[in-house]
Amino acid sequence: AAKQRGKANWVRYAAGMEKPAQADAQLGGELRRALDAGEFALVYQPIVSLVDGRTIGVEALVRWIHPERGTVSPAEFIPAAERTGLIVPLGRWVLRETCRQAAAWTAEFGPDVLEKVGPNVSVRQLHDPDFVADVRGALADSGLPADRLVLELTESAVLRGHQVLKVLHELHDMGVRLALDDFGTGESSLSLLRAFPAAVVKLDKSFVDNIELDEEGSAAAGARQAVARAVVQLADALGLATVAEGIENQEQADRLRRLGYTVGQGYHLGRPVSAAALTARLAAEQRVAA
Ligand code: C2E
Ligand code: MG
Ligand code: MG
Ligand code: MG
Repeated sequence: AAKQRGKANWVRYAAGMEKPAQADAQLGGELRRALDAGEFALVYQPIVSLVDGRTIGVEALVRWIHPERGTVSPAEFIPAAERTGLIVPLGRWVLRETCRQAAAWTAEFGPDVLEKVGPNVSVRQLHDPDFVADVRGALADSGLPADRLVLELTESAVLRGHQVLKVLHELHDMGVRLALDDFGTGESSLSLLRAFPAAVVKLDKSFVDNIELDEEGSAAAGARQAVARAVVQLADALGLATVAEGIENQEQADRLRRLGYTVGQGYHLGRPVSAAALTARLAAEQRVAA
């Protein structure tokens, strides 16, 4: 209970409800120390075919394994990492570690097993002048083919100007794929899709929540189904792949499948797990397929 309370206090403080600037400076220093101390780890959430259940990719999600506070979720430190700029070295570590682990899986299971691995990338990283070189370096050092890497970006990140678009085109020209994360929650989704060299759109969880309810029974469910259908039709028309996020039960998976989604992600299909646990999952799938 003491541990619980300590964690809650720290979170409240870290969230900047009092003295935000001071809290940020303190948390920024903590994050720097944690990065140097190797306290960050990645977990991997399966991205799964809704047609045959196969794991076709993973999203890499960062965790802070704090020596006293235990596992801290990114929602609690990514915003501060972005404000303090610490996201640039942290994001570089995430990118390199994702590529290293993905190359190891490719070596163990063969090139057909994981088609894509996705780290999340913050807008601050896209503005870092070394970002493209960092991506190139992470690919070269790991040996991971560029087309296995799918960088997850949010619409708001991509919307910020001409310079970012140039960076995205450079990545695209290298063969790296780009996914629009949390799609549908940002501002100008439609015009964005034309200017932006995206390969994947990830339908935000907010459109998946309760989507299984009957349209007659719930106007909200009907509206979510309409958005989900429109997004998949738009993606198909533009030649983009889709992933439906946040699937928590089989009814949602079935509904999304009927609406035209072939790939999903969510607790029902697989929670984020350690690299070792994901390795075991891939091995089990390979045994079944053999
Ligand atoms: P995201 O990129 O949209 O990642 C999906 C989040 O939804 C993850 O939370 C995941 O665990 C959670 N999730 C997946 N399926 C379900 C589901 O069925 N139900 C529910 N309730 N949740 C589900 P997580 O790991 O806490 O990450 C939260 C956000 O933090 C991410 O959202 C992403 O924006 C950010 N983030 C995580 N890792 C990184 C990173 O390495 N770099 C950056 N810049 N941001 C990161
Ligand atoms: Mg993501
Ligand atoms: Mg997402
Ligand atoms: Mg999200």
